[in-house]
Amino acid sequence: MSTNGTGVVIAESATQLPEGVRLPIYMDNHATTPLDPRVLEAMMPYLTGIFGNAASRNHSFGWEAEKAVEKAREQVAKLIGATAKEIIFTSGATESNNLALKGIAEMYRERGNHIITQVTEHKAVLDTCKKLEKQGYRVTYLPVQADGLVDIEDLKRAMDDKTILVSLMYANNEIGVIQPIREIGALCHEKGILFHTDGVQAVGKIPVDVQKDNIDVLSLSGHKIYGPKGVGALYVRRRNPRVQISEQINGGGHERGMRSGTLNVPGIVGLGAACEIAMNEMEAEAKREQELRDYLKKKLENALDYVHVNGNMDHHLPGNLNMSFVYVEGESLLMGINDIAVSSGSACTSATLEPSYVLKALGLGDDVAHSSIRFGLGRFNTKAEVDYVSDKIIDVVQKLRELSPLYEMVKEGIDLTKIEWAAH
Ligand SMILES: *Cc1c(COP(=O)(O)O)cnc(C)c1O
Repeated sequence: MSTNGTGVVIAESATQLPEGVRLPIYMDNHATTPLDPRVLEAMMPYLTGIFGNAASRNHSFGWEAEKAVEKAREQVAKLIGATAKEIIFTSGATESNNLALKGIAEMYRERGNHIITQVTEHKAVLDTCKKLEKQGYRVTYLPVQADGLVDIEDLKRAMDDKTILVSLMYANNEIGVIQPIREIGALCHEKGILFHTDGVQAVGKIPVDVQKDNIDVLSLSGHKIYGPKGVGALYVRRRNPRVQISEQINGGGHERGMRSGTLNVPGIVGLGAACEIAMNEMEAEAKREQELRDYLKKKLENALDYVHVNGNMDHHLPGNLNMSFVYVEGESLLMGINDIAVSSGSACTSATLEPSYVLKALGLGDDVAHSSIRFGLGRFNTKAEVDYVSDKIIDVVQKLRELSPLYEMVKEGIDLTKIEWAAH
């Protein structure tokens, strides 16, 4: 308690935050992650004194830079069970996905023109496939089941003798669902079809091993694993089978000719450091995040009715929770929690608010998709933050529902599906 100038007692408790909570709270770690201070520390020398071009062969500036790049290549490779020679550095996973799909499509055109992917992929895969379709490739977009998992039988049926590539993501960035990658990879190998996976959300969060998982090509990104933005990598298998990729950016022949352009040395060093930290801390971190996630889920479910989680929770990223708050208007919900950074089930495409295509693929209606929230818990989130976030959401949802005629009707036992709404 304190007094203002006129002697009026002001209750501070209303505005006082719990210890360890600072607003706004960041809980959107699937969109991006903050740079780990240890990663920044590793990068610093390469932003200042050690500034050489890794392709300069004639002096120590170049050699130093090259040495750092090769160390990073080892660090990235180790995290996913690859060898350093199989790692190609890129500007991020969008480029990695483009390079993988376009590069394979072009290289294997003689063998066939059919590609299989799924409807819940990231736009970096879907838009690339759309482009390839315009160039005469045939693309099958597999549906997913209501829990977000792809049906292996659908995949088998889609394969034909013209199929050159299957591209299915390891873990989904919205609903956190982990696909049966090992089984998919084995099936592809059995049929002699190359298998690419967008591993952005899985690498560094759950064990990923390109050998055990039968992966031929894998995309990963720095800024999703507490590394810097604008750097990523593509794993390209060199043996059994040796994958060939037709380069998409020409000039200089960097990265074994697959990706020309002066290497982003500080970024690459940061990516390497981020991978090494993930390698060492992944297990404990996953456990901690999953506990926080389950705690958040339980609190919300205990306090609120008509909420449901999206995506199969048995095959799920530890830090992800995607939840629908039925009978709540999505935009009002987001406005009510504007001191918390999360993602909604709406995607801003060309200035209109579209429901998430991933949630729609699970069979959710537009309204429910809009009233969904993706929580992305990460390395730096605390229990105190989870408490603040859950209390706030419970409060806002309850208030909004008090104003909701739909919710009133449901509570009174009226079956909304039987109501004939007046046309307007
Ligand atoms: C973020 C993300 C990408 C794009 O990665 P960038 O490095 O930002 O280009 C691709 N796929 C998935 C699943 C992602 O979450």
